[in-house]
Amino acid sequence: MRKNIVAGNWKMNTTLPEGLALAKGLDEALKGKSVNCDVIIGTPFTHLASIAAAIDTTKIGVAAENLADKESGAYTGEVSAAMVASTGAKYVILGHSERRAYYHETPEILKQKVLLALAHGLTPIFCIGEVLAEREAGKHFEVVDSQITASLFDLSTADFGKLVLAYEPVWAIGTGKTATAAQAQEIHAHIRQTIAAKYGKEVAENTSILYGGSCNAGNAKELFSNPDVDGGLIGGASLSVDKFLPIVEAF
Ligand code: PEP
Repeated sequence: MRKNIVAGNWKMNTTLPEGLALAKGLDEALKGKSVNCDVIIGTPFTHLASIAAAIDTTKIGVAAENLADKESGAYTGEVSAAMVASTGAKYVILGHSERRAYYHETPEILKQKVLLALAHGLTPIFCIGEVLAEREAGKHFEVVDSQITASLFDLSTADFGKLVLAYEPVWAIGTGKTATAAQAQEIHAHIRQTIAAKYGKEVAENTSILYGGSCNAGNAKELFSNPDVDGGLIGGASLSVDKFLPIVEAF
């Protein structure tokens, strides 16, 4: 059975003290509550170890937002999958549109990152999604298919089964424009079919596919009520407990 997941993506926000306070605030707010989804927070590299040590990681999973496409060695400034895993983080967000656009991460680079994450026991939260021009040209289905195929479809069935996917239309990220529930359901169902065609129905049915793009307390319930939307990857609204908690509770 696939899991419902609400994952935060803090991006390049919060100093270490601010991040620790945010994570502890969420930890406190979830104490004694039983929620109907897994909760994850994606934080800057600098925060991972301190946050993993400060919160109940059986209730809140910790994710990195990136990692190196090399195992180790002379790559000044890079952070490896082994380093991330050693902090207590269990997840890593890969393929975010900001990394594809601003840091030129190609499908081939992302493929390497996915392999390294899996080799070090990290669960990739792999982001896919089209830009506005592609949506307007009716190319969104082929765009997500090619992103999935190029970076993920050389994985074994067992490895593919470890992934979480996040559909994030680029035109909805940080813009306040959300995909409608119908648009989200339509493309999530399509993504699941694409997975089924390669790995079979069972793997497809067991893959969590999150929606991301201006998801908030006001629209989460409607988005998550779709049969193929298994939760959300949340940017802006993950930076405050008051905004993030109602999204977690939307399940
Ligand atoms: C994101 O960047 O993953 C995201 C979904 O951002 P926002 O929720 O702010 O649109």
